[in-house]
Amino acid sequence: MSTAPLSMRRHIVFFGRTNSGKSSLFNAVLGQQAAIVSEKRGTTTDPVVKAMELIPFGPVALADTAGTGDFSDIGSLRMKKSYDMLDRADVAVYCADPDDFSEEEYKKAAGLFDKRKIRHLLVFTKADITDGKTRRELCRAYPEALFVSSSDQAAVDDLKAVLNGILSGMEEEKPILSGLLSGGAHVVMCIPIDSAAPKGRLILPQVQLIRECLDLGMTCSCATPDQLGLLIKNCEKVDLVVTDSQAFGQVAGIVPEDIKLTSFSMLLAAQKGDIKAMIDGAKRIDFLRDNSRVLIAEACTHNKTHEDIGTVKIPALIRKRTGKNPGFDFCAGHDFPDDLSRYHLVIHCGGCMITKREMNSRIMRCVEQGVPITNYGVALAQLSGAGDRCFEVFDA
Ligand code: SF4
Repeated sequence: MSTAPLSMRRHIVFFGRTNSGKSSLFNAVLGQQAAIVSEKRGTTTDPVVKAMELIPFGPVALADTAGTGDFSDIGSLRMKKSYDMLDRADVAVYCADPDDFSEEEYKKAAGLFDKRKIRHLLVFTKADITDGKTRRELCRAYPEALFVSSSDQAAVDDLKAVLNGILSGMEEEKPILSGLLSGGAHVVMCIPIDSAAPKGRLILPQVQLIRECLDLGMTCSCATPDQLGLLIKNCEKVDLVVTDSQAFGQVAGIVPEDIKLTSFSMLLAAQKGDIKAMIDGAKRIDFLRDNSRVLIAEACTHNKTHEDIGTVKIPALIRKRTGKNPGFDFCAGHDFPDDLSRYHLVIHCGGCMITKREMNSRIMRCVEQGVPITNYGVALAQLSGAGDRCFEVFDA
């Protein structure tokens, strides 16, 4: 099976009322009993996410959700998690039990999918026990819907074929270097090996960029900040220097002005989201005041060191640059707040562990609530004074 991380997989989310047959269908498509199935309403509590190879499309992630329609205290919390899962959904499979179908609920969900530009399909489950009259009526009302019994392999295969068709028609994620360089270019990567670097390995964006250079017929070299000057001097040509954001201050002084400079984080921001919004957001740092509030959001959890970029370095650099003392809140993982109204700025990590869809959902949430958003790399470029030079790379 492909080892593609979840952040690089299209997500298919099974959504619908509790006890609508979502988990059985999820297991049938997955080909294993990953989600617990029972006749009891609300058996699925937290979303279950599993990687699979959907042949012929390729690596995907399937997500089963707790379901809607349970308005008890605990049910409402589970429903929120189900709705949160839509932040990651490229395709939503709306599962409905033909004998417990609410047209109103389905239309509400379909409206939400449309608003969030999530491709969706309606699947009536439990087709093996649905009476003929109900089926005929639903067929007439929803001619595009599928009728699937999770115990009928042919029907499950039909559903997989439809999913394959939808996914194959989607635009492919553009390469990280898209529009910036072409084959034959030489990229130099500046990678600090300090206490924050994981032992014995590179991090995902660094590995991704090396692989992409090879895929696109480019050459690449790597150096620590201390060796960077020597490396550039020894290279016949350098088309782009990509640095770890935290080394911007040092690196900007080493890289000659005629060589383009950016960071891993900025490239990821351009690939995964809206780089223009991120650059505009970084420029808002200079407007922060003592009574401003900033949310620092990370898409995964990890150990914090005394030099932690999100909780220590960025707040310190903001205080130093602005001479002000704004308040900071922090969140990590999938717990990005719904209500951002108290914030004057959101500063997000590079988001290498989440999908483009989820990153864009977060950006959209900020945009809809009028809250500027930037990311670590773009903010650090601005804070180091190298902002204008690094932003130029994305002008085209
Ligand atoms: S905090 Fe963000 S950028 Fe860092 S590893 Fe996690 S997802 Fe990637």
